[in-house]
Amino acid sequence: MPTYEYVCTQCQTKFDVYATLAEKEQGLRPECPKCQSQETRQVFASFAMIGGSKGGTDFTMMPGCGPAAGPGCC
Ligand SMILES: [Zn+2]
Repeated sequence: MPTYEYVCTQCQTKFDVYATLAEKEQGLRPECPKCQSQETRQVFASFAMIGGSKGGTDFTMMPGCGPAAGPGCC
């Protein structure tokens, strides 16, 4: 049985949900185990990976041309 990672939008608690594909197609609304809220959304791991690598690239391109840079910069 596949598992899905969900996060509660009320208290940010992450939890795993076990459901069949048929159950998910019928509109799965898992309940937060902590606050019993149904305001939950599925977590996709690839989103975090894309955001992390992009942020790192931006930072590495910044140094070398700031106020602290030596003569000859730019
Ligand atoms: Zn919650």
